[in-house]
Amino acid sequence: MPYIYRCRRCHASSVPGTRHQAEDARQEHRDTKHGGLAPDGERIERAPGSTRHPDGRYVSTGAVLVVLLLLALAECTARIASVAGR
Ligand SMILES: [Zn+2]
Repeated sequence: MPYIYRCRRCHASSVPGTRHQAEDARQEHRDTKHGGLAPDGERIERAPGSTRHPDGRYVSTGAVLVVLLLLALAECTARIASVAGR
């Protein structure tokens, strides 16, 4: 999940990175532009369009395999049952 540090006073934004990288960018910006002080309106926010987990929008491969396996098992069971019923 990428984070961006923004300083509204300077209209500056860091490049998207980890939370830790955004905090480093905040500290560096405070030190270089504001004499070590915290400017009004600064914030660390999640990058627009990012999800909480990078793979959160995808269905997990394991879940798909389990469903396919259950379908195959159900088909086999149905075939055995139909052969046994003759
Ligand atoms: Zn600033």
